Amino acid sequence: PGNSVLLSVRDLHVRYGRSVIALHGVHLDVPPDGVVAVLGSNGAGKSTLLRAVSGTLRMHRGAVSGGEVRYRDRRIDRLDPAAIVHLGVVGVPEGRQVFARMTVEENLRAGGIGAASARGRAAARRRVHELFPVLADRARQRAGLLSGGEQQMLAIGRALMSSPELLLLDEPSLGLAPKVVDRIGAIIREIHQQGTAVVLVEQNAVMALRVAEHAVVLEVGRVALSGPAAELSRSEDVQRLYLGGH
Ligand code: ATP
Repeated sequence: PGNSVLLSVRDLHVRYGRSVIALHGVHLDVPPDGVVAVLGSNGAGKSTLLRAVSGTLRMHRGAVSGGEVRYRDRRIDRLDPAAIVHLGVVGVPEGRQVFARMTVEENLRAGGIGAASARGRAAARRRVHELFPVLADRARQRAGLLSGGEQQMLAIGRALMSSPELLLLDEPSLGLAPKVVDRIGAIIREIHQQGTAVVLVEQNAVMALRVAEHAVVLEVGRVALSGPAAELSRSEDVQRLYLGGH
């Protein structure tokens, strides 16, 4: 309600096919301009939650079987992915998935197709090149030739080309070296400071809790813990399970 919540997930239930229930009543609130981390181990339901928000569940033979997803007070859980992108919610799926045979520039252009105007596209491209100078340097190179970290940057840059209000990131740190993970974390913070809200799904709790203001921990399809990121960093359960503490 009101303008204190941008994205609101209420009592969300998701199933795949007939027998797999992946989410059992999940709540999540994202304030405007907020960064919320979703933590949890393999199979906890993190990607499923993002798919429910981006409208891509059906592509994975999944469906919302209860509860709702609201964006700016509008129900979006029955919209298709393109309509959700049009509202300003853009996802970067796990595994980056850049168009490997296209150039860096062509990948960015593909992300800007839905942008409102040529001027909007130009501004978005400037922002992407400022955030990721390497994408300007490599504009004409094939995306498949970039390093893993650069491909992740391209995937995020491509999503930013439509100037989203809410960015959904699925494990951006996956498979990247610690230094590159730090770099991606710093960039996510910068994107947030520029006024874009972010949902950050991560198995890397150290990075995610550094970047996010608020976090939830999913365990087998339920929210086991939630609170300010600083508080969760100090929680004994989080320390033991996700931060390598004892
Ligand atoms: P990971 O980091 O491994 O992707 P996750 O927390 O993102 O983990 P999900 O991928 O959301 O977890 O999976 C949640 C549950 O739903 C798991 O039990 C998983 O096996 C199941 N699941 C995910 N996708 C499908 C699918 N397309 N069909 C059937 N079951 C699925």
